[in-house]
Amino acid sequence: MFGESKGIILYSRDHKEKDKLVKIFTEKYGKLVFYVKNAHRKNNPLGASILPMTAAVYSGEIKSEGLSFLNAAKDIQPYAHLQQDIFANAYATYVLGLADAAIEDKKADPFLFRFCQIILAQMDLGNDPEVLTNIFEVQVLGRFGVSLELDKCALCGNTKGPFDFSEKFHGLLCRRHFSEDERRLHTDPKVCYLLQVFNQLPPQRIGKISVSPATKEQLRAVLDEIYDEYVGVHLKSKHFIAEMKKWQQLMQD
Ligand SMILES: [Zn+2]
Repeated sequence: MFGESKGIILYSRDHKEKDKLVKIFTEKYGKLVFYVKNAHRKNNPLGASILPMTAAVYSGEIKSEGLSFLNAAKDIQPYAHLQQDIFANAYATYVLGLADAAIEDKKADPFLFRFCQIILAQMDLGNDPEVLTNIFEVQVLGRFGVSLELDKCALCGNTKGPFDFSEKFHGLLCRRHFSEDERRLHTDPKVCYLLQVFNQLPPQRIGKISVSPATKEQLRAVLDEIYDEYVGVHLKSKHFIAEMKKWQQLMQD
């Protein structure tokens, strides 16, 4: 079937000597792997459109089984900052890796597609990639089949904090109910408040959000705990971010 759709490059890998396998998250058809012949040839018209951190309107032969074939691309939008900045690139790569892990191939998910577009566009503008990643991580949980109560106390429905996070009750716990879970995470209420905000934020309203380095560190810790406990997906790109933070620290010291 011939098809045309907006898409975002998920990855672009060398295949044999001259060709590439390019995975694209398309708005209409979901995630597809395309075989691109002679991708390395200098004058290949698809060249710029299949670089990592690029969006475009792609068209080609879409196969229900196996690989699809890419014919053309137009309206090419490189995310220039994400292509050049190693730090922002690491976060964007992780977000796209999560989107890839969260849903099956060849199933359309236009909402998740547009959410990825928004997150990448905000990162490309230079807004804090760590915070944008955290927002994505919170909101994509449902796609992994994880349903946590992040809007109110999981026990009494109280919507005003201070809250802690409880794995026993799969969500926030208000101060009145702290005693119900001896192993609550003892997360800073400020961090729980941000989890609540991130969970409720409509994607089109995502913009610049300032979070202090100490709070970001705690957000990372609680989201790592949630991802280990409920999602169990371990991406290389996440490991890379952790390593990168270590060297950043070393350089500052
Ligand atoms: Zn409560």
